[in-house]
Amino acid sequence: MTQELQTVDNVVCSFPLRGSQCHLLEESSIPTFVIDRQHHVIFWNRACESATGRAARDVVGTDRHWSPFYPAQRPVMADLILDGATAEEVSKHYGDLWRQSTVIPGAYESEGFFPNMGSGGTWFFFTASPLINAEGQTVGAIETLQDISARKRAEDALKTHQEDLEETVLQRTEELTRAHAELATKAAILQETNEELSQYAFVVSHDLRAPLRAVRNYADFLREELEEVLNDEQRSYFDGIANALKFGDELVSDLLDFSRVGGESLTVHPVPLDEFLSELENELELPPGAQLISSRGLPTVLAERTLLRQLFSNLVTNGLKFNHSAVRRVEIGLASLNNGCCELFVRDNGIGIAPRFHDRVFKMFKRLHTHKEFEGTGIGLAIVKKAAVKLGGSVRIESEVGSGSTFLVTLPTVERNGQR
Ligand code: ADP
Repeated sequence: MTQELQTVDNVVCSFPLRGSQCHLLEESSIPTFVIDRQHHVIFWNRACESATGRAARDVVGTDRHWSPFYPAQRPVMADLILDGATAEEVSKHYGDLWRQSTVIPGAYESEGFFPNMGSGGTWFFFTASPLINAEGQTVGAIETLQDISARKRAEDALKTHQEDLEETVLQRTEELTRAHAELATKAAILQETNEELSQYAFVVSHDLRAPLRAVRNYADFLREELEEVLNDEQRSYFDGIANALKFGDELVSDLLDFSRVGGESLTVHPVPLDEFLSELENELELPPGAQLISSRGLPTVLAERTLLRQLFSNLVTNGLKFNHSAVRRVEIGLASLNNGCCELFVRDNGIGIAPRFHDRVFKMFKRLHTHKEFEGTGIGLAIVKKAAVKLGGSVRIESEVGSGSTFLVTLPTVERNGQR
């Protein structure tokens, strides 16, 4: 359009318009009108008639070229150009929507919405430039129009769409924030409930100890007093009471251990594993025919000693308990070391565990054997798992029935700079 405008500008270089020039503008598809020095319309082409809905015969010769655009008389861009209006004056009419043409010297261009034109109003982009005669005098002005309603509607639709999108993003963000807050509240409640449960388990198991001890004492007194008169069957009843009480005591003590692992505070210290495992071996007082072999040069882990002791003593005890080998052996060593973590193996030459039970055995009271086959409460591995997780690690099993078991324990190590 700018190119065509330039052509028009070049052609209309003198005033009044000559026949061929008029013809050229008449045929142009760009709505164009021209006013003379007295602001009278001297040209109004067919495209302009179509764009404005106003016939040339109704406008040419008058100064009513504003009438298709505005409800009351006011200057259009061509009038302002003709009068050499200052930027301030132009802004008074067109706000900040106008600018100097970068192509045609002295020409202004702008865009505006004309609510009374067309159905629902029309957006026009318009350019006005002065008409200069051979002597350099401004003798009129020419204005061209371009209907940009379709573009504006598309822009509006895009803007609405963008606003909708922003609104949706905002809503989703709010929903996410709400969900996050709800989750945090639920997590806090869950943690509180867990702590309460742990405390409950602690109190119950602790308080069970006294009546159990009392029953054992009274049973012992009774047996002592009746020892002379008891027959074999009655003796076996007393043995039954003693065994049941022993199991009750083990259960209480394991439950207490389990609830202690759940305690809220955790104070970790660097624990050199070489030294720790030597101490553990002494504490465990291994029975004859049992071996605990620990590798040397193991890393230093970041852990709480009590939890670490519970974890490894349960694994070692199980490895020796669920074992029919002539020399029952448990080995502890380093499987891998990376990214501030170490994986330790606890391997035994015992009866092994079928892969389908590898997850189940870590659950409370889950046992694969009867009490007659192997004594136990079914809490040991639950303690192992809880302790490993609490220490920021994990535990898993590699085992087959009949080929021993390997428990792999991951724990955080002390890195060279002393950080976790
Ligand atoms: P408990 O030792 O008191 O039975 P645990 O929770 O320590 O309870 O172990 C759960 C079950 O997992 C045991 O009853 C046993 O069947 C199986 N198990 C644990 N450790 C081993 C092991 N090293 N070798 C074979 N089976 C094991």
